[in-house]
Amino acid sequence: MSEYDGYLEEHHYMLRDMVREFAESEIAPVAGRFDEEERFPWENGAKMAELGLFGISMPEEYGGAGMDLLSAVVAVEELARIDASHSIMVGAHTSLCCTPISRHGTDAQKKKYLTPLASGIVLGGFGLTEPGAGSDAGGTTTTAVHEGDHWVLNGRKTFITHGGVGEVIVLAARTSPAGGTHGITAFILTKETCDLEEAKRVGFGHSDDLEPMPGFEVGQKLHKLGWNASDTRELILEDVEVPDENVLGKVDEGFPIFLDTLDGGRVGIAAHALGIAQGAFELAVRYTNEREQFGSRINQFQGVRFMLAEMATRIHAARLMTYESARLRQEGRRHKKEASMAKLFASETAMDVTIKAVQLHGGYGYTREYAVERMMRDAKITEIGEGTTEIQKIVIARELLRGLED
Ligand SMILES: Cc1cc2nc3c(=O)[nH]c(=O)nc-3n(C[C@H](O)[C@H](O)[C@H](O)COP(=O)(O)OP(=O)(O)OC[C@H]3O[C@@H](n4cnc5c(N)ncnc54)[C@H](O)[C@@H]3O)c2cc1C
Repeated sequence: MSEYDGYLEEHHYMLRDMVREFAESEIAPVAGRFDEEERFPWENGAKMAELGLFGISMPEEYGGAGMDLLSAVVAVEELARIDASHSIMVGAHTSLCCTPISRHGTDAQKKKYLTPLASGIVLGGFGLTEPGAGSDAGGTTTTAVHEGDHWVLNGRKTFITHGGVGEVIVLAARTSPAGGTHGITAFILTKETCDLEEAKRVGFGHSDDLEPMPGFEVGQKLHKLGWNASDTRELILEDVEVPDENVLGKVDEGFPIFLDTLDGGRVGIAAHALGIAQGAFELAVRYTNEREQFGSRINQFQGVRFMLAEMATRIHAARLMTYESARLRQEGRRHKKEASMAKLFASETAMDVTIKAVQLHGGYGYTREYAVERMMRDAKITEIGEGTTEIQKIVIARELLRGLED
């Protein structure tokens, strides 16, 4: 019995145990080093592909495992419990690239792009953010001009997870001068991974069947506070010719696709945040049970116990909110507000819990000897990516006031 039986079934627990075992045996020993070296974990990516983690909730007919969204959430949570650079590899790929193709693509697009993505042959990404268009994604300035049977794209994207290592990118470009969120179209673009040698060496991350589009280039790699083993890059588009058949959904109607993708992505970020918080909490519980000061284990002090109680309570609430928002989405019910609430609460929980975990480790928590400092740095991005905390509040308030405003 578990307090999450109302959400999780036998197959979720089996998946959780499998991913937990993998994360503890294969990721935990290398996570600190890869973070320090800012090195993308190619070998573990190949192993995760073998385990089928890149298409958990994608349809079987397109290379996925055909499981539900809660399964994907549980897997991301378990990976993040050990290392968020690994969990985002699955999260960004699945919720930001596979999902829009799966939910809005044609059968031909799914066969050609979703199959190699969901079966873990290549990695995918999502190109929405630009140097001048972050929270205000309607400010997209990348242009797409129609010529004959194709579109010509020009512009620049930034902060793109898997911008370098990925080979399929779902990307936003402006197709009509109509301002704001109107006149934006979603495209499927292809490029070669920036690390072909490594991809070939580990047998993961590259497909000869996908033709790279000339002019679609990888820009500089970004050096970050956390998520250091995750690949975050700029993408540059110079006269990239994208065939008509690579328009995802309808021309000029891409923005709702991005909003729908972000609703799902927010459930995903909540799962990362939850996993990070859970991992840091467990380390804090273990440490406070071992460390002795003033002649007793520090978990005997009420001040320490209060902190552990607060951490556990927030994690429990974050988990219920995350699972509930995943359930609403997988049942096809309205979930915009709940996804934003889960993301908002879980990300603040991750930050709060990891800061407390570092505090409970004292000076040792401030050193790289202990994973809690990495977790604290990794937690911060969950308050920023896929809509900052402030943007979540805007979304939640808009949903609350729906119908009341003029
Ligand atoms: C590691 C990493 C990975 C990422 N991966 C991807 C990816 O794969 N694909 C992708 O497209 N993007 C990605 N992003 C981009 C991310 O989604 C944006 O950074 C985020 O949406 C914020 O945009 P911005 O950085 O331009 O900040 P800004 O929008 O400039 O915000 C700056 C500050 O102003 C606040 N603010 C802005 N507007 C308002 C408002 N109306 N009311 C109140 N406050 C406001 C924000 O909350 C924030 O505090 C990634 C970012 C990072 C750091």
